[in-house]
Amino acid sequence: MERFLRFVRMSPSGCWEWTGARQREGYGRFGYRGAVRFAHRIALVLFGKTIPDGAVVDHLCRNTSCVNPDHLEPVTNGENVRRGALPDLIGRRNGTKTRCPQGHAYSPENTVVRNGSRHCRLCQTARTAARSAARAAARQKVELRPLPAAKSVAGSHPSGPATDLDFPLHEKASV
Ligand SMILES: [Zn+2]
Ligand SMILES: [Zn+2]
Repeated sequence: MERFLRFVRMSPSGCWEWTGARQREGYGRFGYRGAVRFAHRIALVLFGKTIPDGAVVDHLCRNTSCVNPDHLEPVTNGENVRRGALPDLIGRRNGTKTRCPQGHAYSPENTVVRNGSRHCRLCQTARTAARSAARAAARQKVELRPLPAAKSVAGSHPSGPATDLDFPLHEKASV
C-alpha cells in the first residue's frame, strides 16, 4: 500500500495522478504480487473493493491515469461500452468540441453517432428537409414544363391559333 501511494500525486481536481510507469493510453502500471498490473485496478483492491470476474474498471472522471478509488467503478463490459466507451471515443475523435459547425449543441438528444463520429441531429433534419424541398421543387418544374412547350407549338404556326389547325383535321377524320 505504501509503495503504491508513493506513485500517487493528489491533484486539485480530486484525481490521484499516477506518477509511476504508464502505458500509452495513460493507464498506470504497477508491479503487484509478482505481475505488472493496471494501477487503477490495484487501487480498488488495496482500498477494499472487489472487481467482479470479467468486469472492467471504469474511470468516472475520464482520467485514465487516475487511481482514486472514488473515481473508479468496476462495471461489466456491456455497461462500460454503453455509458463509458462511447462518449470517450467521441471525445477523443472530436476533441472538446461541444457544438456542430452550425453552432448547435452536441447534447445527448441532438447527437447522432455513426461510425464513431458525431453528427448533429438538427443539421441532419435540416438537410433532409432541404433535400425533400428540392425534390418537390423539381417535381413542380416537371409539371410546369408542358405549358411553355405548348406555347412554342402554337408560336411555330403563325397562320392561326392551335384550335383552327386542330378543327379541320378533326372534321376530315370524322368524314
Ligand atoms: Zn479521477
Ligand atoms: Zn447542427
